Amino acid sequence: MSKLIPSLDNFTRCHDTSEPISNFKAPRGQAGVSILWPKQWSSKIKKLEVGNERIIAITIATEPMLCIINAYMPTINTNSEIQYSECLDIIFDIIEKHQSKYIIILAGDLNGSLLQTRTNKHDKLLKEFVQEVSLFRPDLGNQPTFFHHAHHGSSQIDYILSNRNNLSKKYSILDKSYANTSAHCAVILHTNISIPLLVRNTNQKKTIKTKVLWEQRDEEKYRETILNELLQKDLPTLDIDKQIDIISNSLLNAQQQSIPSKITQLKGPKWKATPEVTVLLRMCKVIYNKWADLGKPIGHPLSLELKIHKKKLRQRQRMEQAIDRNTIHNKIMNTSSSQMFHRLIRRNLGDNSQSAINCIKTDENEYLFLAKDQRKAFANYYEDLSAPKPEQFDDLYVNLCKIRQKEMLKTLEDQEIPSDYFTSADIIKAIEELNMNKSPDEFGLCAEHLKFSKNEIAPYLTKLFNNIIETLKTPGTFKTGILFPVLKKDKDPSDVNSYRETLPSKLKWKSLVTKHLNTYWQNTLRDDAESKSTLKHMDTEHLLVGKNHPVWTIFDKTKAEVRKAIIKARIVSGTFILNSDRAKFNQAPSSVCQLCNLSEENISHFLLECPILSNTRITYFQPIKTYVTQHITAEVWHSVFQSKSNIIRLIIDCRHFSQTLRDDKIMNMIETKTREMCYKLYIKRLKLLEAMDG
Ligand SMILES: [Zn+2]
Repeated sequence: MSKLIPSLDNFTRCHDTSEPISNFKAPRGQAGVSILWPKQWSSKIKKLEVGNERIIAITIATEPMLCIINAYMPTINTNSEIQYSECLDIIFDIIEKHQSKYIIILAGDLNGSLLQTRTNKHDKLLKEFVQEVSLFRPDLGNQPTFFHHAHHGSSQIDYILSNRNNLSKKYSILDKSYANTSAHCAVILHTNISIPLLVRNTNQKKTIKTKVLWEQRDEEKYRETILNELLQKDLPTLDIDKQIDIISNSLLNAQQQSIPSKITQLKGPKWKATPEVTVLLRMCKVIYNKWADLGKPIGHPLSLELKIHKKKLRQRQRMEQAIDRNTIHNKIMNTSSSQMFHRLIRRNLGDNSQSAINCIKTDENEYLFLAKDQRKAFANYYEDLSAPKPEQFDDLYVNLCKIRQKEMLKTLEDQEIPSDYFTSADIIKAIEELNMNKSPDEFGLCAEHLKFSKNEIAPYLTKLFNNIIETLKTPGTFKTGILFPVLKKDKDPSDVNSYRETLPSKLKWKSLVTKHLNTYWQNTLRDDAESKSTLKHMDTEHLLVGKNHPVWTIFDKTKAEVRKAIIKARIVSGTFILNSDRAKFNQAPSSVCQLCNLSEENISHFLLECPILSNTRITYFQPIKTYVTQHITAEVWHSVFQSKSNIIRLIIDCRHFSQTLRDDKIMNMIETKTREMCYKLYIKRLKLLEAMDG
């Protein structure tokens, strides 16, 4: 609908809204209902969720407030009165709910007549209904609104009714024009309510969408423009964010000056009449005028001729739609390009320049109608998703993580960082790996901008990235991207919780820095981890930032196994909280083990020493020892695992012994067994502590 009439906003439901029919099987004679309004009103309009694919309603927050219902009632048929009554019930509910505050307007193809001369089952039901809810219609005589295509029959079944009898300024039924191929005539109600066209919000100003035609680029001019702009600036002296701004702008400016672009979205309807349709339209017009000059005599040969030509016009239009559908279908079937695939998706999504929903409901049951507010609601929703919550995390754990983070940061800050960390060759390689034909980021930049100027831009990016490494400051723009909420299957589109996010469209060159920072972080961390008490049991040789620790390699992904892995992960990362940790953060009066009261409760005491846990320990450690000695000799066991600290390492992170154990399979098995042992010890300790608390 918004493609046909882009100047208006709309609320539309179709026959297949709740049960989608493929684009290629669109049935005839089963359409939908739509309410359209000037875009300036949109902030005042609320689309009501009630109704069905035949009945829609909106409210307009104006003075006085209006509730407009549009209904496409079922056609008369055997037993159709049941369906007809159901629809009347739905309308009744809407009126009942809104009539105290709103002026009700019910409009549409009611498929029943209020004319006294008609008395089929629908007519009777409709008349009773109109009386029951006190709807008024202006006196308009018996002028028909419906002319049957096949025979001479006509009737009055399209109405605009209201619960106010003084609403109408003018009520009219339009003559059937020569171009109207529908069986219905337009019915118009001019009310005495005026709704001002609100001043357009500057944010809502429609920007013209364009597509950059890179294949028609003037590459030399593009490069020159970039260089000219960048040579005038002394980038390295500037702040990192400023540098990025200048580089981005130079790319965009050069593109605007040297690469043609075309407008992809025009105002006005997209549908254009083909020459064949135009000819038929003209013929209808000529015949209609001749017939109108004669005073539109019923049954005149000209009126029959008009009917025949309208039929041809209708057929031609339908045929062209079908051909259009088939053409794109064949294209998709015969070519497997991803561009065609995305065109199909866009086609089925409809016009994505408009959101399919008008209203978003927040968790606080607040209804948001403005795009600005809706964006904010989504931002809050995703922020909330990513923030740790007190009811899900224990504060102590979060605090420990923060302390670890600080320790790591401090290590990084103390490091001497080479100023030539990246070379131009690194940058050019990264640019070459970028994929083209992707949508641009929020500033309008895409891979093409860099690809066609890689030699010119590389020195500047090299300096910039080295600057980032040196200062350890990530530019603000590296952390932003376009978030596109995608509705989850079968979920309510008006609820923010119904959306999942797709990855922000982010350029790969940004991630290059992140990747290198991670490598750097990892090396530094490895060098330093031995001295970090919280990390001393983790095997940092195999530490890969961003890659899962084998503690997460769970083959049997049941809840129980995941729970075990969580406990093990805490032990590995040094965030498993024992009394010695609690005491460090003043959360416990003493660091002594509450189970045995014999010594400090640290990880070694918990895993190997506490006598209260010894039964559990023996049960689960013995099989580990047996398993390991099966794969290495008893001699090796004695020489390697004589020290307590090596046994702790074996339990916590067996990758320490990858040289000795060699096989990944063996290590996975040990990981599984030690995970079990840690978990059982943890549970035993927990149960005993609970019992002590009484
Ligand atoms: Zn103990």
